[in-house]
Amino acid sequence: MRFIDHVVARADDAPAGGRTGRVFDPNSGQVQAEVRLGSRADLDRAVAAAEAAQPGWAATNPQRRARVMFRFKELVEAEMDSLARLLSSEHGKVLADSRGDIQRGLEVVEFACGIPHALKGEYSLGAGPGIDVFSMRQPIGIGAGITPFNFPAMIPMWMFGIAIACGNAFILKPSERDPSVPVRLAELMLEAGAPEGILQVVHGDKEMVDAILDHPAIAGVSFVGSSDIAHYVYRRGAEAGKRVQAMGGAKNHGVVLPDADLDQVVADLAGAAFGSAGERCMALPVVVPVGERTAEALREKLIPAIEALRVGVSTDPEAHYGPVVTAEHRARIEGWIQRGVEEGAELVVDGRGFALQGHEQGFFIGPSLFDRVTPDMASYREEIFGPVLQIVRAPDFETALKLPSQHQYGNGVAIFTRNGHAAREFAARVNVGMVGINVPIPVPVAYHSFGGWKRSGFGDSNQHGMEGVRFWTKVKTVTQRWPDGSALPTGSEDGGPSRVQDAFVIPTMG
Ligand code: NAD
Repeated sequence: MRFIDHVVARADDAPAGGRTGRVFDPNSGQVQAEVRLGSRADLDRAVAAAEAAQPGWAATNPQRRARVMFRFKELVEAEMDSLARLLSSEHGKVLADSRGDIQRGLEVVEFACGIPHALKGEYSLGAGPGIDVFSMRQPIGIGAGITPFNFPAMIPMWMFGIAIACGNAFILKPSERDPSVPVRLAELMLEAGAPEGILQVVHGDKEMVDAILDHPAIAGVSFVGSSDIAHYVYRRGAEAGKRVQAMGGAKNHGVVLPDADLDQVVADLAGAAFGSAGERCMALPVVVPVGERTAEALREKLIPAIEALRVGVSTDPEAHYGPVVTAEHRARIEGWIQRGVEEGAELVVDGRGFALQGHEQGFFIGPSLFDRVTPDMASYREEIFGPVLQIVRAPDFETALKLPSQHQYGNGVAIFTRNGHAAREFAARVNVGMVGINVPIPVPVAYHSFGGWKRSGFGDSNQHGMEGVRFWTKVKTVTQRWPDGSALPTGSEDGGPSRVQDAFVIPTMG
């Protein structure tokens, strides 16, 4: 059986033994590898290597650091197909989705290639008499990332792409469910020229996460995962004096106004609600048609479209989506479907009990559709994270606007309409962090930034773009005054002592 180990400098020093976790192939339901679940001692070794490497890396000029990112991008592109296969074999998403996962991460690396420009500081000449003020962004030192199973390539690259380009050392703790792609990415960073100790991977569960949160040498932690754990990470990391950004779960709504192109909406929903088996934090699992006529027409078009979805193994090029990540997760999704039925929602398409011929042990589940879901239902309030679409009918625009605005999660939201005024009004007033207008999955491009509101995001800074640069750097501001007289060459040997300046008082710049 394959064994997945940490990628840390001086790995040979690591003691043998310790706890391990099982890594499944969700297509077959079989265990395909074991992963080491590390301890505080493993983290200490990684931190020691990071502390040794980081000052030299920070002192490497940013253009040289950018060249490593360029080279890394080329290496990942050259391995795209094998990386995508590896990703699909542990996650279960279809190959096209795995390539997308890697590609969206690489786009952040492309942004990081421009780090010399992003790190240029600010300068004020003559902020007071003879006084200049400038500020610079310096790396925070050692950063750590704790990432979820559902984007094992993209989310690590969101974090280390920027953190490392900024001059930090980075320790990644990927999900223990699909750790192989993060391991390979770290190996490729070394090959690209990152010094040993600059990107390390430690595996583990709560024990390793707690060790990261408590470690005094780690200055900043970026977390992406479910909300209760995000909140916990935010609290515990802040208690230990770190900066923390912690992205949580989601329940994204798609509001459909009566003038929307319903065929387009149905095509968009097929991908956004069911793609990647609904295991995306920017999936669209709730659709809110406005008005009964819209609801009826949408429902009529949705049913055949959902029944036509093909569920298959990750390598099936015709499949819309593959298996979910574990048997436990499938049981949890089926539990939510049962709960929805008990709460009184109408189960229009039931995906439970689905088995794929020839892959009966795989973690497959068919697509489900609920109608007449209401805001008081737990199955509406909580994240299901599976191929389940819920219709919540709204009588008017204001009610539709309130639903995502008042929901505990506020990651993404979409509105489908041909009415520019309604769309503008919606985007301005909705209490959600990322908005799509006729765009079902509004994941911002790499040079903007990604982050939700409410229980979808703890902390005040987003992932990637300039927000990412700000998170992984700290500002130093220098106020300078130089004595006059002596510095200007006069041609004589002795420039004479400089004139004693007035005692320095806090300048009012008046
Ligand atoms: P998860 O919260 O179970 O795990 C995330 C990370 O936390 C993993 O590295 C895991 O090892 C660690 N962890 C698990 N239990 C822990 C505990 N008790 N204490 C400390 N650490 C622990 O999430 P997941 O199932 O891997 O991913 C799915 C979740 O992530 C969904 O809720 C999804 O919405 C969310 N997500 C959010 C975003 C976003 O940007 N907002 C993006 C992707 C996924």
